[in-house]
Amino acid sequence: MNIHEYQGKEILKKYGVRIQEGIVADTPEEAVAAAEKLTADTGTTWFVIKAQIHAGGRGKGGGVKLAKGLDKVAGIAKDIIGMQLITKQTGPEGRKVNKVLVAQDVYYPGASEPKEYYMSVLLDRALGKNVIIYTTEGGMDIEEVAEAHPEKIHREHVDPAVGLQGFQARKIAFNLGLEGEAQKEMVKFVTALYKAYDETDSAMFEINPVLKTSDNKILAVDAKVTLDENALYRHKDFVALRDFNEEDPLEVEASQNNLNYVKLDGNVGCMVNGAGLAMATMDIIKLSGGEPANFLDVGGGANAQTVEAGFRIILKDPNVKAILINIFGGIVRCDRVANGVVEAYKKIGDIRVPIIVRLQGTNAEEGARIIDESGLQVKSATLLKDAAARVKEVLATA
Ligand code: GDP
Ligand code: MN
Repeated sequence: MNIHEYQGKEILKKYGVRIQEGIVADTPEEAVAAAEKLTADTGTTWFVIKAQIHAGGRGKGGGVKLAKGLDKVAGIAKDIIGMQLITKQTGPEGRKVNKVLVAQDVYYPGASEPKEYYMSVLLDRALGKNVIIYTTEGGMDIEEVAEAHPEKIHREHVDPAVGLQGFQARKIAFNLGLEGEAQKEMVKFVTALYKAYDETDSAMFEINPVLKTSDNKILAVDAKVTLDENALYRHKDFVALRDFNEEDPLEVEASQNNLNYVKLDGNVGCMVNGAGLAMATMDIIKLSGGEPANFLDVGGGANAQTVEAGFRIILKDPNVKAILINIFGGIVRCDRVANGVVEAYKKIGDIRVPIIVRLQGTNAEEGARIIDESGLQVKSATLLKDAAARVKEVLATA
């Protein structure tokens, strides 16, 4: 589950990570009030106004702007709130901005130049350890750095049972070329950052840039945090951080029905039980000349209600030209699924796309008979290759 920058920074602050201070605002008036409060709290007279959407690259897309004075805040906030922000990560349609973070300007002049670094903490599945990835080349796209200067990207693996050791934190500060006060600050920063990642059960914390200010403070200017949904039961307060505006409405509806659904761009919708079979079904669709419109795993205990919810969600996608239902009757019996399909079909009514149902496993023949005798425009298939051939047929006439 992704959260906004301002929410990620609040978590970081709680764990003692120094952050660029800021206050979130929904309107230009609130933005001005936020700026005034920041001046009172931090003494800053310049501000950055930052669009809050779940996508990176906001700066380049025009979603991060510097206000050189309180009188500039309202105008900039007005421009950003409500804008359709297009970045490398939003796709061409962009994302509507509902909130801005008004933050203190931390790139103020001083004894040295401000310097940007990159740091992230995530799980290295292959090694079964956490890993801190960091580089002196901060502020830019990490993928570009990885391509152009792979040698500049460092990795520090951390055994989750032992935690981040002092020598590791010092090594990181050393590899980033830091000395004196800045080095001490970085040790504190990375130690607190790892603790935040670890204790929140997060999937990823990415801070780009980490900034060394002109007076040698180390702080998080940005925060991209992915919480682990499977750990939310241990962090009840995180549930409220979810922003449905940032999610595909069909995916939201699916999650409310306990369906594992991921929307894709293709033309053949599919409904399957089991993630592995769902992946194989998507392959079948591709081999038949179609493109999967979604991934949908209805789970082991598919019944009439789940089938209906799945149907409705798939049918809301205007790109869908055909639907392939592929169920293996293991826990669930095929006749029950077949009845569920027929029931859902009648209940929804006015389904204009061809539907192919492949049922295998317990009571498969009975299931096929129910489908065939239903009188509905549903084609049944027994073998996977029959299902593929049916998909090909219906696409040819779609
Ligand atoms: P992203 O583009 O979505 O990754 O958003 P960031 O939060 O990383 O901000 C983008 C860029 O805005 C940073 O790399 C900085 O160059 C700039 N920026 C952020 N905060 C400040 C600030 O306080 N002062 C100034 N002058 N620039 C800032
Ligand atoms: Mn960033």
